Amino acid sequence: MRVKSLEISGFKSFAKKSVFEFGASISAIVGPNGSGKSNVAEALRFVLGEQSLKSMRGKRTEDLIFNGSKSAERQNRAKVTITFDNKDRTFPVDFDEVSIAREIHRDASSEYFLNGSSVRLKDIIELLASVHIGASGHHIISQGEADRILNSSPKDRRAMIEDALGLKIYHWKINESEKKLLKTEENMRQSESLRREIAPHIKFLKKQVEKVEQARTLRDELALLYGDYLIREETYIKHAREKLHGEKGNLERELHEANEALLRADSLRGVQTKESAEVSELVRVRSEMGAVRRERDDLGRKIGRLEGMIEYEERRLNAPEVAHEKTVSAEEAENLAQNLYDELGHAEGSEDYLYIKGVVSATRNKLGKFLEHIRGSGVQRGPREAAIKVLEDLRIEHKNLLGAQENLEDLISGFEEKMRELEAILETKRRDTTDAERASFEFRAKKQELTLRIGIVREHIENFMRDEVAFREELREGGILVGRSILDYVNNHIDIEQALSESRAEQESRRKKIERTKIRLEDIMGGGSGEDIMREYEEAVERDVFLSKELEDLKTSAESLRELMRGLDEELGAQFKDGIKKINKQFGEFFALMFGGGTASLEVALDKKRKRGDTDIEGLFEGEPDDEEETEEGIDVAISLPHKKIRGLQMLSGGERALTSIALIFAVSQVNPPPFLVLDETDAALDEANSKKYGDMVATLAKYSQLIVITHNRETMSRAGIIYGVTMGSDAISKLLSIKFEEAEQLAK
Ligand code: ATP
Repeated sequence: MRVKSLEISGFKSFAKKSVFEFGASISAIVGPNGSGKSNVAEALRFVLGEQSLKSMRGKRTEDLIFNGSKSAERQNRAKVTITFDNKDRTFPVDFDEVSIAREIHRDASSEYFLNGSSVRLKDIIELLASVHIGASGHHIISQGEADRILNSSPKDRRAMIEDALGLKIYHWKINESEKKLLKTEENMRQSESLRREIAPHIKFLKKQVEKVEQARTLRDELALLYGDYLIREETYIKHAREKLHGEKGNLERELHEANEALLRADSLRGVQTKESAEVSELVRVRSEMGAVRRERDDLGRKIGRLEGMIEYEERRLNAPEVAHEKTVSAEEAENLAQNLYDELGHAEGSEDYLYIKGVVSATRNKLGKFLEHIRGSGVQRGPREAAIKVLEDLRIEHKNLLGAQENLEDLISGFEEKMRELEAILETKRRDTTDAERASFEFRAKKQELTLRIGIVREHIENFMRDEVAFREELREGGILVGRSILDYVNNHIDIEQALSESRAEQESRRKKIERTKIRLEDIMGGGSGEDIMREYEEAVERDVFLSKELEDLKTSAESLRELMRGLDEELGAQFKDGIKKINKQFGEFFALMFGGGTASLEVALDKKRKRGDTDIEGLFEGEPDDEEETEEGIDVAISLPHKKIRGLQMLSGGERALTSIALIFAVSQVNPPPFLVLDETDAALDEANSKKYGDMVATLAKYSQLIVITHNRETMSRAGIIYGVTMGSDAISKLLSIKFEEAEQLAK
């Protein structure tokens, strides 16, 4: 890898685009004072990511951009591009050329490009570090800076040498590890503090969880108790419901039947009262029969009288003469009247139509005859004929009366028959009534008893309904406490016969046990399910486990970081010592060469260092020494000039200082050669003899590193393969020209 070219545009005095082609191992840049040579070295610093404006002789970003002149306008941006040949792939990128560009603007914005693509400064620094081009720019020795290494403090000197030896990477790694360690320790503190924070909460939750677990056990117990209780209760209720309703149904049916029977009995009883139709019929028949009997008796008496009259008439007829007188005796008239009065009286009391008709027709006959008799109607007969006629009439009447009497007898026997029938009916009824009354009494008693029993059953049903309500309530409450699994009680098996035969007190004692368990459960959980607590506890424990694991991991990684840092420290120390040894060998040689003898070496010196306790974290690292004052290694330069008793660098002349610096820079550069080395008038203070030696050293160094030298020195120029001349005209713009050695010599004068 080598620098191929440098393109400068708008940077400082290079207002226009100027391209340096560094085709040789030594390239020299020559030119009059103030023409812009050092600006080239600064352009190199700039493009490699230099952040210090001071080291580029500027105060503000703007100072790096061409500021214009009387005849040229100022530029608004400065851009420098460096191109490396990367055919050997020293840069770990798959390009034959690597070009890095940096562009700045007046607003101080800065951009970096890698092969034309915009990248971050970090990317540039990383890429350059990989080829040992450090940001400190140890490979660019600015004008008048050569003896900087001698002027610095031992500590800074050490830093410079470490950088030159390529050991900065160790510091960088150590720093990175330290940052990581600090971060890790901070994380550890956070994890520990979080653990401390949640510990009391976990303790509290643990107690709660114990309660929840206790409650779960109780709940399981309760579920078992419920399971047994509920199945028994349901069995009881089912059975009791059937039994009581069956009983009630039977009793009500019986009561209904008893009511019906009672109604029947009562209706039977009511028929046979005194007012019954048969009794009045019997009375009526009896009275009618009495009337008819009386009439028959009257008729019998009348027939008797008539027979007497017939006998009388017969006797009279048979007597010699019969006087025919038309007379009616008072007795005769009274008899007739009495007779009629009685008959009609009977007829009046009778309802028998035939009888009444018979009486009426008999009355009419009698009255007809009586009228005939008293009017003397009919043919005027002689006394005999008249007597015969009377007799005949009497006989006819006798016959009629006998007929009537016979009718009455028939009537009487009809009545008697009727009365017998009625008596028989009444007798039956009387018997029925007695039975009905007895039945009525019995049914009434039965009804009373049934009503009583129904009342009792109803009471039982009411009690039982309370049991049913209590069962449902128990199921509901149980559901709340035990959950839906309460319904599993239906799968429980019990000895139904035993369950039904046991006393209710057994169930009551089971219920009381459930009640007691419920109270205990509520005491513990206050009605809550505890799911939230369990979840919270699990989460808290999980978090604690996570934190403790994290803490373990952090401890492990802190330990490995410390281990890494120790390793890096050791490695750095070892490499540094080795480097110093190598440098000393070269330093001594170059020094002796330059001074024609004498010795020079770098020596490791111990300096007091800050107290670590200021930044360390208390108590985190057991066994670590805390607040111990530590020392730090610095570098001293020890020299001894031939023939001179010189102690200390401050006693050297300017030229001697320059020679010593050069010997040291070259020694360092040879031990760990940078890809390229820029030397800006490092040879300025050398006399001719030393210039020659310097030239030899440059030639030697060029075997290891590409050299870009800015010089006025003829000897140095003579070693260069390419010489660029930088001039500045009246426009105050640096111009570039590739020139020959002779021209260079001329230009440098
Ligand atoms: P010497 O041989 O004396 O060391 P040199 O060739 O190294 O000189 P430089 O120091 O590189 O010269 O250049 C200095 C010149 O650059 C000055 O003339 C200065 O005015 C000019 N210069 C510096 N910064 C700017 C800028 N921002 N704009 C224009 N010109 C600038």
